[in-house]
Amino acid sequence: MSVLVYIEHAEGKVKKTSLEAVSFANALAAKTGEGDVVALALGAIDQAELAAVGKAGAAKVLQVSDSRLDAGVIQAHATAVAQAFEKAGASTVVLAKSSLGDAVAARLSIKIKAGLVSNVVELPNTDGGYLVKRSIYTGKAFAETSLTTANKILAVKKNAVDLKTDGGDAAVEALEVSIPDSDFASKIVSTERATGEVLLPEADIVVSGGRGMKGPENWGMIEDLAKTLGAATGCSKPVSDMGWRPHHEHVGQTGVKVAPSLYIAIGISGAIQHLAGVNSSKCIVVINKDPEAPFFKAADYGIVGDAFEVVPKLNEALKAE
Ligand code: FAD
Repeated sequence: MSVLVYIEHAEGKVKKTSLEAVSFANALAAKTGEGDVVALALGAIDQAELAAVGKAGAAKVLQVSDSRLDAGVIQAHATAVAQAFEKAGASTVVLAKSSLGDAVAARLSIKIKAGLVSNVVELPNTDGGYLVKRSIYTGKAFAETSLTTANKILAVKKNAVDLKTDGGDAAVEALEVSIPDSDFASKIVSTERATGEVLLPEADIVVSGGRGMKGPENWGMIEDLAKTLGAATGCSKPVSDMGWRPHHEHVGQTGVKVAPSLYIAIGISGAIQHLAGVNSSKCIVVINKDPEAPFFKAADYGIVGDAFEVVPKLNEALKAE
């Protein structure tokens, strides 16, 4: 028996969310007695990266080095995971909740006849059943779902589990899979980054500006701070509506949902529609000159002050670190 983890990587680097999925699987296997955690890496992956998979709690990594699997071919990935599932003798697949993860999990659930729960926030309650808690309504509520199938798929929400870093070295084993050509019928032929160095939906740190920044000409200080922190830049909806920033940077209920370790909101009031896109962040820092700004209620740290004074000083202090 084992728990299988589907690993996502970008340009050969394992995503942190996948390491969280491995950590979750490790704790799950310890709880349910499902044996070892076996990770599945598809396509070209940096070998040094696999060490982190072991540290996160995988005993073994199955690697399929077929370069056709690099480009996020969803159907082919689902087929490969289904075959690895058989090979590993698993009854549970754990993966990170993401657009690719959800797409693969949906197809996989049909192939291996598994119940699927996405946005999982904690280990299942197995006292007399299998109850899975998941986040719903953009993090405002939780639902408990009962899984009754023998095979199960759990897609873990970003930042829901602590990353394990004290695991051992995972044994790496090549896996042969047989994927029909029809699984490659549609594939991504090119991708283009819409913005800067760090992609907003996956960023670990986000620096976001609102109407309090007064105009697009003042965004230099947001970008400088983002550069210092290796962060992506975001904004509130009115900012993108007014054309101060591109629409793909708009964060919130009607924009991008982010779940970084650190979200810095500058000159944003904290309307409920904005919060809906950021409330999965691990730590929220708010900079606003109005001490009554609603965002302070959702903040872990707040600075009451004029952004035009605070942000350059903060940036200088961080650069001096
Ligand atoms: P404001 O509300 O104008 O706030 C500006 C803030 O800047 C204030 O708190 C002010 O105190 C502060 N400030 C001003 N000057 C300074 C300074 N010098 N230094 C520091 N602070 C300063 N909004 C989103 O962001 N995302 C969404 O997805 C979204 N979806 C929506 C969907 C619907 C159906 C509706 C009706 C609205 C939606 N909105 C969304 C809009 C939302 O309701 C708010 O109007 C919007 O978030 C406010 O943007 P803001 O905080 O930048 O501007």
